[in-house]
Amino acid sequence: MGLELPEIYNLYQQMDKRLKNKIIRDIILGERSKGIIKLGMCNLDKRKDEILNSSIKHIQTRGKWIFLEFENGKLLLLGEIIGKFRYYETEDEIPTNYHVLFKFKDHTALTFQSSLYAFVVVADPEELKNHKYAGNIGPSPLDEEFTYSYFTNSLSKYKNRGIKGVLNIQSEIAGLGNAYINDILYQAKIHPKAKVSTLDEAKMKELYSVIIEIMNSAVEAGGSVNEYDLYGETGNYVRIGDKPKKDMKCARCGTNMVKMNVLGSSSYLCPECQRI
Ligand SMILES: [Zn+2]
Repeated sequence: MGLELPEIYNLYQQMDKRLKNKIIRDIILGERSKGIIKLGMCNLDKRKDEILNSSIKHIQTRGKWIFLEFENGKLLLLGEIIGKFRYYETEDEIPTNYHVLFKFKDHTALTFQSSLYAFVVVADPEELKNHKYAGNIGPSPLDEEFTYSYFTNSLSKYKNRGIKGVLNIQSEIAGLGNAYINDILYQAKIHPKAKVSTLDEAKMKELYSVIIEIMNSAVEAGGSVNEYDLYGETGNYVRIGDKPKKDMKCARCGTNMVKMNVLGSSSYLCPECQRI
């Protein structure tokens, strides 16, 4: 499906521990990287030299993004990822089916494999500010700024829109994507197409708590069972969409769950608990 806040936060923590102070001595683009280059999501073909031979000074995360900051001031932006990063202690272990291979001076390595798309972009700080997606990211549910009043102010700007789409606006609430939004709405018993204006204060409070609760428990679980961390391990959090889809019953009321396309992606919902 794609890396959302829990998976990205977990990867960020691992990268921060493992990659800081390393120096990239070479970046090799696999044949398969052509897809993301063509889509304009990767500029390593033109700009990889800018981040070679400079050590990784800081690593930061915002929402579904990880930013590697180099000693020379350049940045490597990684975000909106469908795929996996994998760290190798020795170069002998590196598989051949990568999109991008980062070789470090100490002969460790990092590979990136994409299963659909991802941003892998070299940028200056100024370019980051102006980046259409990475430059405009709101607080995530793990951040202190994500207060209840911030949440209600944000949502009130989109009163006539469906809640599923609004929770996906990264400039307002960062890090949520289709998979976790699905679980959040199920847990809060809200239909994905429900308009923001139809949610009363009690529902808003419930939704806010559920977002924080699910994000924290998924971070604690190391992310989804369907996504991989830096060492090739999967997390323990089972999202509703990760479960077998046939005859899935609502855990609360036993009604058959239904699959519905909302804004171009699948939503699983209980027609009894999540009425519109
Ligand atoms: Zn139900």
